Amino acid sequence: MKKLILASNNKKKIKEMKEILKDLDIEVMSLENENIDIDVVEDGNTFEENAKKKAKEIYEYVIERGDKDFIVLADDSGLAVEYLNGEPGIYSARYAGEHGNDAKNNEKLLENLRGVEATDRTAKFICQLAMFTDQGEYFKVTGEVEGRIIEELHGEGGFGYDPLFFYEPLDKTFGELTSEEKNHISHRGVALKEFKKVISELL
Ligand code: IMP
Repeated sequence: MKKLILASNNKKKIKEMKEILKDLDIEVMSLENENIDIDVVEDGNTFEENAKKKAKEIYEYVIERGDKDFIVLADDSGLAVEYLNGEPGIYSARYAGEHGNDAKNNEKLLENLRGVEATDRTAKFICQLAMFTDQGEYFKVTGEVEGRIIEELHGEGGFGYDPLFFYEPLDKTFGELTSEEKNHISHRGVALKEFKKVISELL
């Protein structure tokens, strides 16, 4: 069976991706599952540059070690707040300095939006997927979801900025949604749904 290697070390992101992809007839592997100890430096200027770089470096490594019948998929994602001119954007994971410190990132976001009216707190999550097949073919897909940054954390679910991201149609933050609910409407869910169409033609 063909395998799909997720080019990420973010455990929560991998869990979501595996859940969303579970109905595909493909074995979904993390870098850890594949014994790949590579942390790709995200120094691109856009989500796409970063996603492509992550996918390409892992693709090159896997080709080099002689694997066949695989696809590499990378997700570069983040939050863009309109009032903050698109910040934290590609710096979402390290907004407050330390990579992956969700609590500090949320604190900084609240600080930067202190006193800003609800109507000016609109934001969107963006998920850029980049994929290389074992033949070196490149595909990309983007997913987005719109919401609003509230003034305090609500909910324990998800990760990152989820407890601050209020999704109007369900009247809840992403942190208050079940994983099924989040995956159904999230930027990652939307992008992966498109990705499934691309991949099902390759299987
Ligand atoms: P990446 O690993 O460089 O793509 O960084 C992703 C960062 O964007 C995460 O560390 C979170 O801060 C934020 N992010 C991306 N997707 C989500 C999500 O689904 N919920 C909450 N935060 C997210």
